Amino acid sequence: MQKIVDFIKKLYGSSDFIALHEPRFAGREKEFLIECIDSTFVSSVGKYVDTFEREFAKKVGSKYAIATVNGTSALHISLILAGVKSGDEVITQPLTFIATCNAISYCGAKPLFVDVDLDTMGMSAESLRDFLEKNCEILDRKCVNKSTKKTITACVPMHTFGHPCKIEAIKEICDKWNITLVEDAAESLGSYYKKRHTGTFGKMGAFSFNGNKIITSGGGGVIVTDDESLAKKAKHLTTTAKIPHPYEYVHDEIGYNYRMPNINAALLVAQLEQLDAFLSNKKETAQIYKDFFANIESMEFLAEPQDSVSNYWLHSIMLKDKEQRDKFLEFTNKNGVMTRPIWRLMNELEMFKDCQSSSLDNAKYLSQRVVNIPSSVRL
Ligand SMILES: *Cc1c(COP(=O)(O)O)cnc(C)c1O
Repeated sequence: MQKIVDFIKKLYGSSDFIALHEPRFAGREKEFLIECIDSTFVSSVGKYVDTFEREFAKKVGSKYAIATVNGTSALHISLILAGVKSGDEVITQPLTFIATCNAISYCGAKPLFVDVDLDTMGMSAESLRDFLEKNCEILDRKCVNKSTKKTITACVPMHTFGHPCKIEAIKEICDKWNITLVEDAAESLGSYYKKRHTGTFGKMGAFSFNGNKIITSGGGGVIVTDDESLAKKAKHLTTTAKIPHPYEYVHDEIGYNYRMPNINAALLVAQLEQLDAFLSNKKETAQIYKDFFANIESMEFLAEPQDSVSNYWLHSIMLKDKEQRDKFLEFTNKNGVMTRPIWRLMNELEMFKDCQSSSLDNAKYLSQRVVNIPSSVRL
C-alpha cells in the first residue's frame, strides 16, 4: 500500500497531503469577480446569471438552463415541475448522495429504491423494469404502486461519479409507465451517453456546482430542459414566483428563493470556460490510474462504461472485499492521501429504512468495495 501512496503523491507532484477533489481557479475568475463587485451587482440581478444560463445550455445541448442556488434546489424544483406531490412515490437508487432523497422528501414524497448496475454504479434498467412489472399497474394513465396504492410520479437515476448510467433504456421504461424522468446529473457535467450529454435525456436534468464538483460557483446548481413552459415555470418558482412589474410586488403562488447570485455566476462563467481543459486533464489521469492499477493484484480501476464518455469527476477503484477496503482507507488517510468510501446506502439511513425497494445486491456489493481516490485536475 505504501507503493500506492507514493504513486499518488508523485502523480500529484506533492509530498504533502493530497485532497480528494480541489477546485482549480486558473482562468478569468478574479477578473469577473472584481467586475461583479465594482458594478455592485453581486446579488440576484446581473449579467453573469444570464451569460451562464446561455453558455451552459449551449454546452450540454439543451434548449434552456435555469441557474439555482445549489444542486439540491435544482432537483427540488425539477421534481415539483414533474408533478410530484405530497403522498406520491419517486423511484431512485440507494447508491447516491443524500441530496437526491432529500429533494424527493421536500416534495412530501417517498423514495423507492431499485438496484444499480455493477459496471455503471447507476440505476439498473433491468431492476427498474422488474420492480415496475412486479409491483405496479397503470390506472387512469398513472403508474400506481399496487401495495401502497400511491402514484409513482417520477424516476431519478443518478450518474455516479460521472459515469453515465444506461439512461436510454431507463427512459424507455419510464415512458412506457407514464413516469416522468428527472436526471440527477449533479456529478456528470461533461459526461455523455451515446454522444448525448447526460441530464438531457429526462424531462429535466439537475446539475450541481458545489465546491467539490468538476466546476464550482462556491455553491450553485442548474436545471436543464427542452420544454419552454417548464423552463419558464422553473425560473418563476426559483425567483419567489414574482410577476414581472416595474415596481409592484405581486406573487401568484408560493415560490422559492432559489436563484443563483450574480457573484456565484461570475465565478461559474469563468469555470465553464475551463471545462474542456479540466475534462482532458482528468481523462489523462484516468488512463494513468488504469495502467497503474492493472498491475496491482485485487484492485481494479473503474473505467467509463460502454457507449459512454465519463467526466471522471471522482476516480474510483474496486477492492476485493470490505476488509481490504477498510485497510486501504485507514492506510491512505493516515499517510496523507485522502480517500473515501462510497456513501452509506440510502435505504440504510434512519429516514429511509422503511422505504420499499427491490433487491439491492449490486448496491451493497459496491458500497463495501468501492473507494474514491484523489481526483483533482492536476496542475
Ligand atoms: C452534489 C450532488 C447533488 C447536489 O448537491 P448540492 O450540494 O446541493 O449542490 C445532488 N446529487 C448528487 C448525487 C450530488 O453528488
